[in-house]
Amino acid sequence: MSTLALLGGNPVRSRLFPAYRVIGAAEKAAVAEVLDSGVLSRFLGVWHQDFHGGPQVQAFEAEWAEACGARFAVSVNSNTSGLFCAMGAAGVGPGDEVIVSPYTMTASAIAPMIFNAVPVFADIDPVSFCLSAETIAARITPRTKAIVVVHIFGQPADMDPIMALAEKHGLTVVEDCAQSPFATYKGRPVGTLGHMGVFSLNYHKHIHTGEGGVVTTNDPRLAEKLQLIRNHAENVVEGKGVSDLVNMLGFNFRLGEMEAAIGRQQLKRGPALVAERRANVAHLEHELAGVPGIALPRLVDGAVHSYYVHALTYDRAATGISRATFVKAIKAELAPCELREHEGVLMGEGYVRPLYLQPMYQSQTGYGDKGCPFRCPHYGGEVDYRRGLCPTAERCHYETVITHELMRPPMTATDLDEVAAAFHKVAENLGALRDWEKAAG
Ligand SMILES: *Cc1c(COP(=O)(O)O)cnc(C)c1O
Repeated sequence: MSTLALLGGNPVRSRLFPAYRVIGAAEKAAVAEVLDSGVLSRFLGVWHQDFHGGPQVQAFEAEWAEACGARFAVSVNSNTSGLFCAMGAAGVGPGDEVIVSPYTMTASAIAPMIFNAVPVFADIDPVSFCLSAETIAARITPRTKAIVVVHIFGQPADMDPIMALAEKHGLTVVEDCAQSPFATYKGRPVGTLGHMGVFSLNYHKHIHTGEGGVVTTNDPRLAEKLQLIRNHAENVVEGKGVSDLVNMLGFNFRLGEMEAAIGRQQLKRGPALVAERRANVAHLEHELAGVPGIALPRLVDGAVHSYYVHALTYDRAATGISRATFVKAIKAELAPCELREHEGVLMGEGYVRPLYLQPMYQSQTGYGDKGCPFRCPHYGGEVDYRRGLCPTAERCHYETVITHELMRPPMTATDLDEVAAAFHKVAENLGALRDWEKAAG
């Protein structure tokens, strides 16, 4: 039995893992073409034929809609801004509540606040790590206007019961698909299951344009509102003859022509990149089966994962050591990835602290110093951001979830085998780790 790296032995792997590089010759050529054209953005913030942007933006949107099976795709400069547009299009406003997941990237929950609404956190389901119809139902009040369902880690939420519940209460459902492009649920792509779907094209996502995003919808009324909010709505409504002025104050969330040109190439690569992640995860999971204390991700019925991260569930009772020590020992056996060396080994305990525990929610300080929107005079409810609010999310973050990204292309079978070997080596040395933990106090 070889000594753990954490205890002074040699690591399983010291060579860096390969970088996740998805930008190639096609993107370079596409950008050069835009530069040569001299048109880096053609958007105009008035009602004019250029209101919808330039040729690359419009082609990208058409191709994204087609790939996704949605009627409309509206490009934006980030998923965050796409969520803002979606909240505006849903008619969210002061006094409203929007039900959100606490176990997500911060932007998913901020979106309602941009329109002075209050985020209400519902707990996650321990299988999907997403909101479920049951957890949402427990938070619906007469003030609820919308729901932001995040397909976290690349795993689709169980959408059929969620949509049935939303329909019953007349709620708009926004899917945050930032981590789940090309994931499907009962044969249908995410982003077409709710009323709107919001994707990210940020550098860290499956496919990217540096910064960027897309909102999908099948509803022409919502598509128009998304386009208006993206591009100076208040300045356009008159010319366009828009009579419903709710939330028709706009931003500049427009995507540039270069990003759109890159996006068109990225869209072509997306399915193969996700297929490779799935194959890598299958390989890794085959080798991880039987490691004590580790449960592999389970899927809701009909869901196909796109593996933004691979989320394992840890059972301390099965190993007798803390999750912190377990993760530390595995990380000591492995190496960082190229281009992200500064982040260390791409593995972590938990994912994010449940969002309501952030200082902004705890202090109820949003706009100005008068407690808006949380204690806004238009708001008739009472926010609850106490610790213990979402026990499953808290347990996942503080006790059970282990996330890692050591399955991204172009990892080879050897790379994946070494990741699995690190888990097995730690599993064989649990006794030594228990002693180490005891000595460390
Ligand atoms: C990355 C991410 C976002 C934000 O995306 P940006 O494009 O960086 O604004 C939102 N939600 C989730 C779940 C994410 O992972």
